[in-house]
Amino acid sequence: SKAKLFDEKTDTKTSFKDVAGLEGAKEEVQEIVDFLKFPEKYTALGGKIPKGALLVGPPGTGKTLLAKAVAGEAKVPFFSLSGSDFVEMFVGVGASRVRDLFKQAKEKSPSIIFIDEIDAIGRARGKNNMSGSNDERENTLNQLLTEMDGFGTNTNVIVLAATNRADVLDSALMRAGRFDRQIYVDLPDVRERKEIFEVHLRPLKKEETLDIDFLAKQTPGFSGADIANVCNEAALIAARKGKKSVNKQDFLDAVDRIIGGLEKKNKIIT
Ligand code: ATP
Repeated sequence: SKAKLFDEKTDTKTSFKDVAGLEGAKEEVQEIVDFLKFPEKYTALGGKIPKGALLVGPPGTGKTLLAKAVAGEAKVPFFSLSGSDFVEMFVGVGASRVRDLFKQAKEKSPSIIFIDEIDAIGRARGKNNMSGSNDERENTLNQLLTEMDGFGTNTNVIVLAATNRADVLDSALMRAGRFDRQIYVDLPDVRERKEIFEVHLRPLKKEETLDIDFLAKQTPGFSGADIANVCNEAALIAARKGKKSVNKQDFLDAVDRIIGGLEKKNKIIT
């Protein structure tokens, strides 16, 4: 249904303080917040405000979170859809959904459109597509390109798209006036993992002596989403044991469980 596809949240509460680490990416999207809030400042000198930016990085690193935070910081509506929603659509539906989405976003401008998993629709044309109708995917992609070319730079709708496969994207998407900026969102290093833990430990009742540096060191290769999972899992483990607070051992057990899950997932893929 239509309602499922767009997820508009006018009063998004996500802000940059919910996004830990990612200093470089945050600095880059801060500029987009500024474009949305003070467009005249840029257009007065004859500059053209960019229409789109691509957030590139591995799964669970906070691309969606960052896009929501841009909307939250700029206090503008957030319209989103996921490329994978289009895979099983009937001919003509994908393109009309894209048209509707842009229409709504323009009506509520300034606004953000977020397209998650853009590679599902934005893969290079003319290559074999294993899932769904290739024609339909191409129609959807063409409609997206048409929409981005169609709106003037004074429309003040900025399209953010996320992918972990920038290498497979149709180069037409990256042309000037479309997604001509790429922002990298990488896996966190140990210092960033500590910051992510701090964000996700906030709502937990934990032991006073819990060593967050230690947790960061125990989780190399973990994404922000994995760390959020660890924190939640640790709380559930402690609760199951009837404890009043979450301690180091609960976190270690949670880390083990998440590593187990990651290994299973990798086995299925390979
Ligand atoms: P995917 O590519 O799988 O869609 P993504 O990069 O869009 O992933 P998000 O959906 O933004 O990742 O992240 C999932 C959740 O993980 C977030 O809602 C948040 O709870 C947590 N998370 C990820 N990265 C961060 C971060 N840098 N700071 C704080 N929390 C994070």
